Amino acid sequence: MTLMEDTPATAQVTTRNPVDGTVVATYPIADHAAVAAHVDRARAGAAWWRDQGYRDRRAHLLRWKSAIANGAEELADLISAETGKPHGDALLEIMLTLGHLDWAAKNAERVLKRRKVKAGLINYNQHATVGYEPYGVVGVIGPWNYPLYTPMGSISYALAAGNAVVFKPSELTPGPAVWIAERWAEAVGHDVLLALTGDGGTGTALATSAVDKIAFTGSTATAKKVMASAAQRLTPIVAECGGKDAVLVAADADLEAAADFIVFGGMGNSGQTCVGVERVYVAESVKDSLVAKVVARAERLRTDGQDAHYGPMTLPSQTDVVAQHVNDALRTGSAALGGPDSIKGRRIDPIVITDVDESSEAVQAETFGPLVVINPVANLDEAVDRANGTPYGLGAAVFTSNRRAGKAAAARLETGVVTINSVLGFAGVAALPFGGVKESGFGRIHGADGLREFSAAKSIAIQTRKAALNLLTLDRTDKDMHTVSKMIPMLHGRAKGAKH
Ligand code: NDP
Repeated sequence: MTLMEDTPATAQVTTRNPVDGTVVATYPIADHAAVAAHVDRARAGAAWWRDQGYRDRRAHLLRWKSAIANGAEELADLISAETGKPHGDALLEIMLTLGHLDWAAKNAERVLKRRKVKAGLINYNQHATVGYEPYGVVGVIGPWNYPLYTPMGSISYALAAGNAVVFKPSELTPGPAVWIAERWAEAVGHDVLLALTGDGGTGTALATSAVDKIAFTGSTATAKKVMASAAQRLTPIVAECGGKDAVLVAADADLEAAADFIVFGGMGNSGQTCVGVERVYVAESVKDSLVAKVVARAERLRTDGQDAHYGPMTLPSQTDVVAQHVNDALRTGSAALGGPDSIKGRRIDPIVITDVDESSEAVQAETFGPLVVINPVANLDEAVDRANGTPYGLGAAVFTSNRRAGKAAAARLETGVVTINSVLGFAGVAALPFGGVKESGFGRIHGADGLREFSAAKSIAIQTRKAALNLLTLDRTDKDMHTVSKMIPMLHGRAKGAKH
């Protein structure tokens, strides 16, 4: 069972297709009592799930994966209807998601199973191991821009680590959440994955509920509210928030490739991508050439009709943010493509503005629309400084033919992820952890770190024999303490290993 057949629905959310405004579906809004009831059910499911062990969990997860894969066309239709994105984009989202689910299912045992660690010379009589145990019930709160891929980055890894999940999707996109939970109910059951539809209030209720961890993906402003709610019970959270990703283009870069990736990362999904390209810092000597290539590609994009490259803005109010940023950018910058007239209601044609003051909102705040700002810099060093000059720190990309220079820039970028000579190149690499620094959040999803994010480390030290040096007693002997006083400088006095 997934939706709340047993929940007294006092109110409902209705989703509409952003392309034509038609009603897609109606879902109940879960209140505090419904949230508590779901968390209780998931608690029972968590006990069963934990008892399955790694091998059986892996088999269940792979059966669920297969059910999702076999219904991919139907799921893509749902994603497309509620977000307004092209069907092909939705299919790509599903493919990326399943790659992560597959990795999490197949690697959980290797990453999390109990392992021996060295106890050290003094503690030779301790058999020391560390294991990673599930928290219990994880509450996942997701956004609407990639309504499957983004929350599943938490859900797949939380489930593989042995937790049950209560998933609260955005009120704009409950469809995929309900659909995957239904597939779970058919493939596995046992209340291990429950979808809970509703609005921001439902999210607050989940964040204050008895869940053992919260995985939040959404804006930085909401993350702060979720943290405050979770603080009531000291519930730990992982926060995947917004970004203002920059692309750095050196004078020696392949400009054709850079332009292609900038248009893909900046305009794809109407710019509604947390790691989308919002800013470009390009070496002055190649700026005009890069701008011309970006504009040539971007002006070919279609935003209307069956073969549109991207859909309308999913969140109606985001249009106002884009308009505000465009107007602010044009106070100091020059339009290379489009401008305020490109904003046609929720459909926004690509906009490229150059030479924008660094203090502009279009440079400092997340736009989440198809606007790219391109500013000239002297070199990669200056590009890194400017890229680091916002409160965000999610991702960045460097284009250069000098791999060493690229790596040096990557090392100085204050972000959680960097791609060199591509954008978004990490998204499908399941083994790579993902997350931000600064106001882009903290904690990691994906990869081994993602599995550990949803696990509590438990250490066990077994005393296997009596210690020669018996220090864990209040009846320490003078002889033992004399040995200790000799050993301290012997073991630690020489700063061994301090030399480079
Ligand atoms: P929001 O912050 O508006 O909402 C995120 C989720 O939080 C939604 O499910 C929302 O519910 C819920 N919510 C709203 N208010 C509260 C509250 N007070 N307590 C608990 N939950 C609440 O983000 P968007 O959905 O608009 O998503 C866009 C943002 O997400 C962008 O900033 C984007 O950069 C970021 N994002 C980050 C990613 C990352 O991995 N770092 C990936 C994808 C997006 P409801 O919608 O029903 O109101």
